[in-house]
Amino acid sequence: MDVTALKADLAGLKIEDNPAIIQQKSRDFYWYSPVLKRQLEHVTGDIVVTPKSEDEVIRVLAACHRHGIPVTPRGSGTGNYGQAMPLSGGVVLSLAELNQIGNIAPGRVTCGAGAILADIDRATRAHSGQELRMFPSTYNTASIGGFIAGGSGGVGSIRWGGLRDLGNVIRLRIVTMESAPRVMELTGEDVLKVMHAYGTNGIITEVEVPLTAAYDWVDAIVGFDDFMQAARFGNLMAIQDGLLSKLITPIAAPVPYDYFKRHQKFLRRDQSVVVLMVAAHAMDAFAALARRSKGEILYRSDSATEAEAKGLPPAYELTWNHTTLRALRVDPAITYLQTRYPSPDHLGHVEAMVKRFGDEVPAHLEYIRFDGEIGAAGLPLVRFTSEDRLDEIIRIHEDNGCWIFNPHRYTLEEGGMKQTDEVQLAFKREVDANGLLNPGKMIAWENPAYDYRSGKPFLFKGLQS
Ligand SMILES: Cc1cc2nc3c(=O)[nH]c(=O)nc-3n(C[C@H](O)[C@H](O)[C@H](O)COP(=O)(O)OP(=O)(O)OC[C@H]3O[C@@H](n4cnc5c(N)ncnc54)[C@H](O)[C@@H]3O)c2cc1C
Repeated sequence: MDVTALKADLAGLKIEDNPAIIQQKSRDFYWYSPVLKRQLEHVTGDIVVTPKSEDEVIRVLAACHRHGIPVTPRGSGTGNYGQAMPLSGGVVLSLAELNQIGNIAPGRVTCGAGAILADIDRATRAHSGQELRMFPSTYNTASIGGFIAGGSGGVGSIRWGGLRDLGNVIRLRIVTMESAPRVMELTGEDVLKVMHAYGTNGIITEVEVPLTAAYDWVDAIVGFDDFMQAARFGNLMAIQDGLLSKLITPIAAPVPYDYFKRHQKFLRRDQSVVVLMVAAHAMDAFAALARRSKGEILYRSDSATEAEAKGLPPAYELTWNHTTLRALRVDPAITYLQTRYPSPDHLGHVEAMVKRFGDEVPAHLEYIRFDGEIGAAGLPLVRFTSEDRLDEIIRIHEDNGCWIFNPHRYTLEEGGMKQTDEVQLAFKREVDANGLLNPGKMIAWENPAYDYRSGKPFLFKGLQS
């Protein structure tokens, strides 16, 4: 890999070659997983390049194609499974400066792939009282391009489903990895070719996403003596067609008390809670439902005193993978899983796992819409002892019909689909025939004969060097 020749070809562009900064920009939040921590700790790129425009992206890809040097795109590096980590070294391509927020129209906004989600919302709210349909709990740091290429859903998924659902991304503009890189516009179902593909088959430079009406959201926390009571209340809130909410998150005791330090003053250690974002106009209906469910409203941001609210993080930063982050800050032996409890009996599946694992796997649900129905996803915490026990916990979930999206794997297939996405594989052949985009993340590209049924973790050859 002749990085010196590449740097000469890219003269004038923003290039970082300080090893410490390169290492930092070669990492994401992979350390949530003790497995990925062991496997990826040494991974680093050779240089970091930060283009200011799409033309500069094209120049970088053309030069890297010429020199046969891998390129791993990076938004803000908040992914959890090493998605933005350059397993074969090469160029870390930061899209952070493609952050323009362009055309805002009724129901849609166009912006650069590097635009931060919270910045987009600030602009669309100010422009026309509109907001993004959904965002990850890393709302204040993550980029829209990284969300689309590596995320799945989040706050708002209770109303709009996940990124996988058609219509949640309107258009993507990508640059291909070829000797003369092309710019392609993808719309309709074609956006799925690049979505959640970890940047393995195209660099997103611009996105167009739908907007919805913006509301004043009230943060609320409701306490329950028993986790399944909290889970049932969450489900009851989720099925209310007339009660507008954006976030419904049941979390088992003692997680909230032990790890949500700023909110501890409102909580008892034996209380499970439901963390919510509810539209201001729906608060009376919400309060009535909480009373009916014998829940204790512990906190409401619309009635908290200034002193009570001072320094509190937003409710969404207690949920999704922020729950895990807050736990890890207190107890480094914590890790997590990503689950889905099949409907319609999702509560039955949840209860079975709660009874089976107790406090070894403290429960954490996220209510979402899934294929037109209310469903329960989960990011249960795990009190980690060994990789064998972790795999056993995963197996027991799967044996009980629960889906596991394994966050302890860095490949697309093992992390989610457990099969090849033929559409994405075919598109990769078309736009990155030399396999230089984020190598090692698509097993079907690296080793088409790989048998997923073995369950043995895939080890990318590039990692062995
Ligand atoms: C505390 C915490 C909470 C989280 N909560 C959520 C959540 O609620 N929902 C959720 O879905 N995720 C969540 N995540 C994961 C992550 O934050 C999100 O997926 C986020 O949207 C990723 O954005 P990013 O800009 O940081 O992407 P990065 O981590 O930089 O990249 C993610 C993937 O996309 C690729 N990529 C980045 N930019 C581009 C581009 N322009 N073109 C092509 N490929 C690109 C990268 O190569 C990588 O494979 C959480 C993570 C943490 C640490």
